[in-house]
Amino acid sequence: MEEKSRKCPYCGGSNIVEGVRVDQTADAGRIGLAHKTRLLVIFTEPFYADVCDDCGTITRIYVKETGKNWYRK
Ligand SMILES: [Zn+2]
Repeated sequence: MEEKSRKCPYCGGSNIVEGVRVDQTADAGRIGLAHKTRLLVIFTEPFYADVCDDCGTITRIYVKETGKNWYRK
């Protein structure tokens, strides 16, 4: 079985903080992946990140909801 690694690939530390919301600093909305709702409204799915609190490396970046109608050009 594959065990999920919670270690930082950069410094080897295990002080990983999970599920940190990725925001813009100026409170001007979120950065995220665009997808269209059924009403064809563009919606932004926010990013979440796991960060090593020892060295600051982002070990993972992801959205929590999958299977959206991702908006691509
Ligand atoms: Zn680290």
